[in-house]
Amino acid sequence: MTYDSNNIFAKILRGDIPCQKIHENDYGLAFYDIHPKAPIHALVIPKNAYENFEDFCHNAKPEEVLGFLACITKVTELLKINTSGYRLMSNCGEGAGQEVPHFHVHLLSGK
Ligand code: 5GP
Repeated sequence: MTYDSNNIFAKILRGDIPCQKIHENDYGLAFYDIHPKAPIHALVIPKNAYENFEDFCHNAKPEEVLGFLACITKVTELLKINTSGYRLMSNCGEGAGQEVPHFHVHLLSGK
C-alpha cells in the first residue's frame, strides 16, 4: 500500500485546508462531512497516515487504536448521539467506493 500524502484529509491534518472541527486528541481528529448524508454526519480520522481500515488494523500501534476509538466515543458524547443512536461505517478500498484514501469512519445520526 502506498499512502498518498496529497489526499484531502492529509491536507486537513496539515492545516492546508480548513475543516469544521468537532474534537481532536493525540490520535484522532473529528470534523463535519462537507456533504452531509444525514442530519448529523461526522468524520473521524487517525492523525497518522493509514490508507484505509485494513491498513489501520494491520499497522497501527495499540495506543493509536485505543486513542482513535476514544476520539470516536468523545464525539458521540459531544454530539449527544451516544444515547439517541448512530451508524458507524467505513468504506474500505475501491470495491467499497472509498473516495478519500486516508482511513476514516463516518458517524451518521438523526435519520
Ligand atoms: P468515502 O467515500 O471516502 O468513505 O467518504 C469520503 C467523505 O469525505 C465523503 O462523505 C465526502 O463528502 C467527504 N469529503 C470529501 N472532501 C471533503 C472535504 O474537503 N472536507 C470535508 N469535511 N469532507 C470532505
